[in-house]
Amino acid sequence: MDHCPYQTTAAGNPVADNQNTQTAGARGPALLQDYQLMEKMAHFNRERVPERVVHAKGAGAFGNLLITHDLARYTRAKLFAKVGNCCPMFARFSTVAGEMGSADTARDPRGFALKFYTEEGNWDLVGNNTPVFFVRDALKFSDFIHSQKRDPATGLRDNTMQWDFWSHSPESLHQVTTLFSDRGIPATLRHMNGYSSHTYSLWNEAGERFWVKWHFKTLQGIQTLTNAQAATIAGTDLDYHRRDLHDAIARGDFPQWRVQIQIMPEREALSYAIHPFDLTKVWPHVDYPVMDVGVMTLTQNPRNYFAEVEQAAFEPGNMPPGMGASPDKVLQARLLSYPDAHRHRIGIQYAALPVNRPHCPVKTYHRDGASRFDGNGEGNVNYEPNSFDGPVQDPRVREPALALQGDADRYDHRLGNEDYSQAGALYRLMSPAQKDQLIANLLAVLQTVPRAIQLRQLAQFGQADAGYGARVAAGLGISAGEAALG
Ligand code: NDP
Repeated sequence: MDHCPYQTTAAGNPVADNQNTQTAGARGPALLQDYQLMEKMAHFNRERVPERVVHAKGAGAFGNLLITHDLARYTRAKLFAKVGNCCPMFARFSTVAGEMGSADTARDPRGFALKFYTEEGNWDLVGNNTPVFFVRDALKFSDFIHSQKRDPATGLRDNTMQWDFWSHSPESLHQVTTLFSDRGIPATLRHMNGYSSHTYSLWNEAGERFWVKWHFKTLQGIQTLTNAQAATIAGTDLDYHRRDLHDAIARGDFPQWRVQIQIMPEREALSYAIHPFDLTKVWPHVDYPVMDVGVMTLTQNPRNYFAEVEQAAFEPGNMPPGMGASPDKVLQARLLSYPDAHRHRIGIQYAALPVNRPHCPVKTYHRDGASRFDGNGEGNVNYEPNSFDGPVQDPRVREPALALQGDADRYDHRLGNEDYSQAGALYRLMSPAQKDQLIANLLAVLQTVPRAIQLRQLAQFGQADAGYGARVAAGLGISAGEAALG
């Protein structure tokens, strides 16, 4: 902003009086000709855009990704071509179920959305702080979210709705176990990991494809909050995590994450015992060890929260050549759903907003649309093919073909999958203190839901690990015989 001290209207006309409405006489009514009053009120009425249906409450910051290990073997993406490459980026962290004004310290997964402004266009990775998710089929996503949001009659969040859905959806148990573990409430946004959760792909110049999972390991160390600590903080500072991130960056304490991948050659997906595109599963490290890629550092707070954090629009489909999606059904749905949400929330020009626009040239034939504010493609030709040197396709960046198998059908998502073993593995790797915390966190809510739901859910805990089931049953005062009926 320049340093002209004088206020103007939106059209730049100087404002003579910003204190007094024009009225007919000192005690008379306002005049219709007071354009300035109308403009102020009309703009004020339109200040809000719809909040995100999920991930409404967030915090963001700019930073960079430094490549410490090249991935040239796996991908032609220039970002990963050599050690020392450094790419500007933006991160937005969020809770999932709460509204824009909700408490930062709620027990909830955290969104871990990243936008890398690469020389070949944006790469967006819209992950979470957990390596898995509650459902493996996007057809169940809106039902799941409804169960976590407010009761349609009372407008209240409701434990019964949540556990009713989870107890009917055993594939959620792995993520439920993570959510109610100590990691379910991070101490700050700086003290949590991020995961792509989905399987994505990389492909190289030779046309070889590799399946990949991304990990972002906090270099601040994992730190968490207990229910009691989180409740106390929520009572005094709803914006605790947003404030912590802002203050850390402002004092030069820049948070960092080690970026790692797990790599699976394309053909191994056909025979790997675990469904490689099942969002409720991890790839055990013993099968696919993590490999270092680089370090992500956040260094700059947003200059304007609404412009840069509220209007940040992430799209899993934004990927430079050499990177791709996978058949994960939830990812496939997100490829379409994210840009659809942005068009609804902030309009068709969202990709040209400063926080979203790529740092490389953009050469599309999209033209016009509401509130076009860039050059609209200038006076250049607006169709293709053309005879006037307009931009053309580049066959060199064509993704290798994906061999498909099977007939088009609605395949039961439980066939070839099981729901319990990794939830059990997670339970067993917890320390005794972490197990105690998990059980206490579960009991705090489970004891408020109807007995039929408790019993149905108990059967899940017991199948994951007999000890896990027995401890929850004992806490609920349910005998082994009664629990077995669940
Ligand atoms: P490993 O023992 O090789 O890895 C376990 C991983 O679990 C650790 O590397 C750590 O991942 C994470 N972890 C450790 N303690 C906890 C905790 N208290 N709560 C949540 N996560 C923790 O075993 P596997 O790879 O065979 O995985 C076993 C289980 O670990 C899985 O079923 C899954 O629940 C969990 N896990 C696995 C991850 C994976 O990608 N394989 C990632 C995260 C969790 P990190 O360094 O990412 O914190």
